[in-house]
Amino acid sequence: MVIAPSPTTPVQVSSTQSLIATQRQFFNSHATQSYDFRIAQLQKLQAAIKTDEDKILEALYLDLHKPKFEAVAAELIFNLEEITDAIKHLKQWMRPKRVNAPLSQLPASAKIMPEPLGVVLIIGPWNYPFQLMIGPLVGAIAAGNCAILKPSELAPHTSAVIQELIAATFDPEFITVVEGDKTATQDLLQHRFDHIFFTGGTAVGKIIMRAAAEHLTPVTLELGGKSPCIVEPDTHLDYTARRIAWGKFMNAGQTCIAPDYLLVHETLKTELLEKIQEYVREFYGDDPAQSEDYCRIISDRHFERLSQLIKTGQVLLGGQTIAAERYIAPTVLDNVSWDDPVMADEIFGPILPVLTYRHLDEAIAAINARPKPLALYLFSQNKATQTQVLESTSSGGVCLNDTIMHGGVTTLPFGGVGESGIGVYHGKASFETFSHYKSVLNRSFLFDLKLRYPPYADKLKWVKLLLS
Ligand code: NAD
Repeated sequence: MVIAPSPTTPVQVSSTQSLIATQRQFFNSHATQSYDFRIAQLQKLQAAIKTDEDKILEALYLDLHKPKFEAVAAELIFNLEEITDAIKHLKQWMRPKRVNAPLSQLPASAKIMPEPLGVVLIIGPWNYPFQLMIGPLVGAIAAGNCAILKPSELAPHTSAVIQELIAATFDPEFITVVEGDKTATQDLLQHRFDHIFFTGGTAVGKIIMRAAAEHLTPVTLELGGKSPCIVEPDTHLDYTARRIAWGKFMNAGQTCIAPDYLLVHETLKTELLEKIQEYVREFYGDDPAQSEDYCRIISDRHFERLSQLIKTGQVLLGGQTIAAERYIAPTVLDNVSWDDPVMADEIFGPILPVLTYRHLDEAIAAINARPKPLALYLFSQNKATQTQVLESTSSGGVCLNDTIMHGGVTTLPFGGVGESGIGVYHGKASFETFSHYKSVLNRSFLFDLKLRYPPYADKLKWVKLLLS
């Protein structure tokens, strides 16, 4: 079922309303609550992804020129691992947790039990359009919710494949997809959900939170930001260059946790940049435009924005663009300062600005003077340096001596802090995000101390004794 509603036409508004009402009715039937139901739906999703693998890969290629390897590794395997993890641990995640009740409340038992939230809305971006739509859905299903998915219109082929896959796998009263541009999202946002899970930019994140506030709907905001990459002189130069080049230029830099800019110790800069150039050539050849392993920019607007950033910098590597293909070569900008346009906002493209520092304290101070990033990278083999950076900076996540890789560890909650986001997911954290943890106290009828009831005369001393 494809619904592309517009907020201006009452008929479409009511169709969104009835869609949500149908899901709410299904949720209220408690059908989604049992362990067996949740496991069966996760297995159906797993099977559907495997069946549709070729269609998904084709769509990702059409939308982003995404190489098969990156698509399989970052979009398919990632989601399949999340599903396997949820299936393996769901019983344990769903189990209520017994906690101690205080002496004054005995005899009694206390527990914390997770319960599903209800009907949730998941809004996705275009850069990993399959992973970032289905990944949160795994958590929503595992936690026993109904869900409406809104994929990004900027990746239309993947959006269509997601719509087909979901429609063929689930009843719309349980899970459905609403396709369309931002007016479709705006329409959905007028209605009450039990949770909104949004992945996208900070500016739209604020719009989502404002709309959610109208209904007091809790939100998870998976946003972006400028993720710094510090390189210390004691690093392993060769691996560092290769890991930075890979993390920056995969998906043509359109990765939320891509290293946004380099902060390299001034003594290492020349050698490091030579190595990075070497690896870019090794990865994508002398002309990356001919490489089957290099992505394209998602839209003309982003192509224009990135092309302008290149024009304002001193190009050390790359810089070539082909507008008709929305191709931008892997580009390194040298001698960048904090006031350059490329340092104003998240780059979200294949441009690597290079800044230097003399003392680590300067690098840390520069990072701390700006909004908290989604990821922070430090290349250093020195434990004391690692501790110093970990303890004196704040970011959604950190990866020491590599880039991107922490995002694929299901046991590590993934999310931002400050302007880079609110809330976390992946693995158990996804289940927790889509659950309410209900506190339950169960009191016994064995006896009933009269101490707490009026009249209070002479009772205070006993209460004080109990509390001491
Ligand atoms: P975006 O914020 O432009 O769009 C995301 C979604 O919001 C899309 O589905 C779009 O249709 C909808 N939308 C756009 N404008 C809207 C409006 N005015 N009102 C309501 N809905 C609207 O983000 P994007 O360009 O798709 O993705 C890029 C951003 O996402 C980057 O900042 C990146 O860092 C971030 N991102 C974060 C993560 C993460 O996990 N933290 C992952 C991927 C991308």
